[in-house]
Amino acid sequence: MASYTPMIQQYLKIKAHYKDAFLFFRLGDFYEMFFDDAVKASKELEITLTSRDGGGADRIPMCGVPHHSAKGYIEQLVQKGYRVAICEQTEDPKQAKGVVKREVVQLITPGTIMETKVVEDNKNNFLTSISSFDNNSAFGLAISDLSTGETRVTLIHGRIDDVLQEIYALEAKEIVVDSDLKELIDKHMWDGVSITLSKENDTDIPEQFQSLVSSIKQQPLVIACGRLLQYLHKTQKRSLDHLQPFVLFETDQFMKIDYYSKRNLELTETVRSKGRKGSLLWLLDETVTAMGGRKLKQWLDQPLIHRGAIEKRFSIVETLLNEYFVRQELRDLLKDVYDLERLVGKVAFGNANARELLQLKKSLAQVPSIVKGLESLNNPYIRELMNTLDPCEDLKLILEQALQENPPISVTEGDLLKDGYNELLDKYRDASRNGKSWIAQLEKQEKEATGIKSLKVGYNRIFGYYIEVTRANLHLLSEGRYERKQTLANAERFITPELKEKEALILEAEEKSIQLEYELFQQIREQVKTYISRLQQLAKLISEIDVYQSFATLSEQRHYTRPCFSEGRELRIINGRHPVVEKVMGSQEYVPNDCMMSEGRELLLITGPNMSGKSTYMRQVALTAILAQIGCFVPADEAVLPIFNQVFTRIGAADDLISGQSTFMVEMLEAKHAIMKATQNSLILFDEIGRGTSTYDGMALAQAIIEYIHNNIGAKTLFSTHYHELTALEMDLPQLKNIHVSAVEENGQVVFLHKLQEGSADKSYGIHVAQLAGLPEQLIKRAEVILTQLEAEKSTESVQQVNELEEREVSVKEQPAQLSLFADSNVTNNDKFTTKQKKVIDLLLLQDIMAMTPLDAMTKLYELQKMLK
Ligand code: ADP
Ligand code: MG
Repeated sequence: MASYTPMIQQYLKIKAHYKDAFLFFRLGDFYEMFFDDAVKASKELEITLTSRDGGGADRIPMCGVPHHSAKGYIEQLVQKGYRVAICEQTEDPKQAKGVVKREVVQLITPGTIMETKVVEDNKNNFLTSISSFDNNSAFGLAISDLSTGETRVTLIHGRIDDVLQEIYALEAKEIVVDSDLKELIDKHMWDGVSITLSKENDTDIPEQFQSLVSSIKQQPLVIACGRLLQYLHKTQKRSLDHLQPFVLFETDQFMKIDYYSKRNLELTETVRSKGRKGSLLWLLDETVTAMGGRKLKQWLDQPLIHRGAIEKRFSIVETLLNEYFVRQELRDLLKDVYDLERLVGKVAFGNANARELLQLKKSLAQVPSIVKGLESLNNPYIRELMNTLDPCEDLKLILEQALQENPPISVTEGDLLKDGYNELLDKYRDASRNGKSWIAQLEKQEKEATGIKSLKVGYNRIFGYYIEVTRANLHLLSEGRYERKQTLANAERFITPELKEKEALILEAEEKSIQLEYELFQQIREQVKTYISRLQQLAKLISEIDVYQSFATLSEQRHYTRPCFSEGRELRIINGRHPVVEKVMGSQEYVPNDCMMSEGRELLLITGPNMSGKSTYMRQVALTAILAQIGCFVPADEAVLPIFNQVFTRIGAADDLISGQSTFMVEMLEAKHAIMKATQNSLILFDEIGRGTSTYDGMALAQAIIEYIHNNIGAKTLFSTHYHELTALEMDLPQLKNIHVSAVEENGQVVFLHKLQEGSADKSYGIHVAQLAGLPEQLIKRAEVILTQLEAEKSTESVQQVNELEEREVSVKEQPAQLSLFADSNVTNNDKFTTKQKKVIDLLLLQDIMAMTPLDAMTKLYELQKMLK
């Protein structure tokens, strides 16, 4: 290190504190990166990699970005999950003795970035921190959004996976943990989930943030908050006045929907495209403001379980639904309300410009009309909201008096404030304006005196004001009075003593005016800071109002109804629809269905061919329950629902959830999760569980799962299956009822009616479909024979014995004539085969070859062969 130049030594010293960040090292008008940072950044940002001599043996790799366009590059890096440390020159280079002093002034990370390009309008940008207790069996989870100032904290009993699930569900950008936990999480982090993991061991609450945690009593939670605040303190290095006190939320205050289920139900993004379009959130979002959009997503993330709170939301939605004109006007007014929460964040951060304060003013100007509209409505809950609403009129007045209508982006070049706002400022402005008109006057006088029509007075930064005369007219100037300053190709520029004198006055006034204006503007910004919590309160109410009108608007458009909550356990949905599928395909096409789940039918077993609508039906029930519990009306003619504490959705053979694990393992892990956590107040959807393994295996598991839920949990359950055999369970399990979706034939075509009916599906529909599809008649006949045979077998052996039977048969050792199956494959006389061989044939026929991977097919083949041997 000794041989490096002093500047590189300084660089290395600073870099040592920011090993896991790109260090943007300010060097004049550039941010430079050196060594590995340079190599990596040049690739990520596609900028040229150069090198410089730094005193060491080798040249040092280097790349840089201009200081004025650095923002875009920083955003790019942060969006890719990196951290960027901004290192500025903290003394004037002219004054510096030796190397200019430099310091990191901010660490920008995915969870702390405020730039609007990176942070999506309708999404929160969450930073989280975790602390672990009791041997990793309990965790404090603190959550904040630096762009809006929201904070909350919760205690999670469980394993680290449970915490991570919560964090994934939030779509948080960054997790802050201590070194130990970092190691653990690194191991548990899922592939394909991009989230930045940061380290902070310190958990003392920084002095200026003490008040934010004063209401949090549990030590584990205080520690989680402390870690988060330390991290913010150290990375942002500035006051963050907009951070709100931590709110304690308990996960059992809300309906729990775990990560798998949220994904399966496509609440906020679709499974296939991972986009918002096609998700429930996409359907729901009729909000007008960015704040409302974020609030809606928060509500969807946390459906309520407190009946009174839900009814309150219904009541407001109903009133807004009925008051079309008030609602329309409300929507129009909200359109001109800017993102108050993020504006407040900028004010606190100290980088709000005049345009942003103007947005604040315009937003505040909408509030009185919003209040007026809402106060005209006869609804006690709306009135309650209005009573707590503080329109911040005084702030609006201040901004109105101060700000000009079209201020520039820059706050250091004047033109921010109105005339009349400040006396001294007016004086300076007068001076500079008068000076300018004096100059205009001078030009006129000089033209007359010299007779040069083309003479003009101009200004440039280097020479100041000058009189310009073209070469051809030079002879008309009188000697002595004009001092030559600059020579151009065909003109000369002169100054006169009066001009210089006036110039000094004008420039001084202008400079003072700009300086004063900037100071005044800063004062205003400071003043706005004192309104932060009032503004945040206002923002919260406006965002809620926006969500209410969004619910009302949607419910009107799509003819949703207000659900009722049942006293007991009854669930009755009449003409229910899947909200998203209905919207996508159109209400005319969509076939509504009822759902009845009450005493004697807590568990519905759904059978029916592929594509008949089983999955859609199950999801529509879950989505209806979720919509109801966030306070929205539901897609049905009538809905009576219990309040569910949790919803679980598991899909058989879902293969895209977690890479690296076999699909069947995933299926079983998910099923386990549901079975362990569900209670009798939960809703479980199991969609073709057991599909990921061999038929008998899968069927046995499916049955055992159903029995377990039926006997031990008692949760309301929808279970779809293609194991027709399971329908026999209706006879043994008093709470289980069979329902089915059937297909009919119309002009030789299979037509799905999508209509749910009582009882089980016709078991030969598969063969029927195959026949319609035009498979050879011989094959169809054969299938029919096998089916009857299987049925005959089953009538003597109960479903429960299937597995046992298989084992017994496999264990029979001596069986002759293993080749006869192949030698005599056309034989239809079944007597030629041993029981075992018949079994193998049957198993072979049962294979859904089109649904198998080549590897599965080989494995199956191997198994079958093994059975014969
Ligand atoms: P399954 O799970 O039985 O294979 P899905 O639920 O996936 O069937 O539905 C298959 C397709 O049928 C859906 O993509 C949808 O287009 C259509 N569909 C499902 N339910 C309905 C319905 N109630 N009305 C109209 N079309 C439906
Ligand atoms: Mg399905």
